[in-house]
Amino acid sequence: MDTRPPTRPLSISQVRLFLSCSHAWHLRYRLGHVPRVGAGAWFGRMIHEAIQLAYQGLALDDAVRATWETACAPIFDALEELVTLDAEYAAAGRPTSKAAQAWRDQHPAYDELARRVNAYQAAALGHLRWGKTQSLADYYRRAVVLGEREAEILIDDPILIEGRPFRTVEDDEPPAADSAGDDAPFDEEGKAAYSPLVGVIGGVAVAGVPDIVARRGDTALVGDYKTGRPLGQAALLEDAQLTIYVELLRQNGIIAAGQPVEVGHIVLGEREVTHQWAPASDHARLLSRIERQLAHVAALVAADLTIPRKGIDAGFLSPCALCDVAHVCDA
Ligand code: SF4
Repeated sequence: MDTRPPTRPLSISQVRLFLSCSHAWHLRYRLGHVPRVGAGAWFGRMIHEAIQLAYQGLALDDAVRATWETACAPIFDALEELVTLDAEYAAAGRPTSKAAQAWRDQHPAYDELARRVNAYQAAALGHLRWGKTQSLADYYRRAVVLGEREAEILIDDPILIEGRPFRTVEDDEPPAADSAGDDAPFDEEGKAAYSPLVGVIGGVAVAGVPDIVARRGDTALVGDYKTGRPLGQAALLEDAQLTIYVELLRQNGIIAAGQPVEVGHIVLGEREVTHQWAPASDHARLLSRIERQLAHVAALVAADLTIPRKGIDAGFLSPCALCDVAHVCDA
């Protein structure tokens, strides 16, 4: 008898991981090892949480503060003060200039605040993978700036927010309070609290949840918020994740037969918010390809055919450097 734990519906995150390194998929989804996520993914999750609160009616800048206050309670005041002082420090000139150095001498509290924030990052958030150029203070600065861009970030006329019917805090029935923690039925990058759409594609059970589904006239908009680099238009048009969302929305009756659809990313960049939208007019061709990709991964999962990728690729092509389960990899 097969005593392995049942396999969950495949999500695009699982497919990507499996095709990047099937042993990493095995460690995470078959053996249940907890991933050590990167700081960038953590930041994305924080922003998703704030945006979700904003769609429920909280001002986005307040939502940003609320989520960060919860995550960084012991040093939140220091974080706020540091970011406020940062603006003054930046206005004084380049860090190496005499004026900036004079400002620093006149504000000894700045270094003490930075020390407290860095110590919290190393201790309370030390389970995350921090790159050399990543810092908690920088991520909070970026979050505060995004909080001031509510009009560019929220989309009018939403229908579903992370899989849940749109409602505001004024509505009678409050949104469910569960969150997508380690017990979530499957993972979706960066989602804060979500309700997956489930369907069957290419004979494979699949789950997924777009960040936002909205209406623009008769057209359904299906999109994700991204904190990484934007895709080019060609890559967006071929994107499997967005195509899977559209198909699941159709199978679940949220997009009607024949209804026009646009898919897109709202890219929350360091300097600007960019909207990329494209008509999902090539859906049948993309779906045919995705059916084969899903069936391929599902067959390998069913046969337990997983191998470590370590040593196969040269240098920077190896997935090992950015692997979330490298700490438990025995390869
Ligand atoms: S460290 Fe490399 S070989 Fe090991 S699971 Fe991660 S990606 Fe795969």
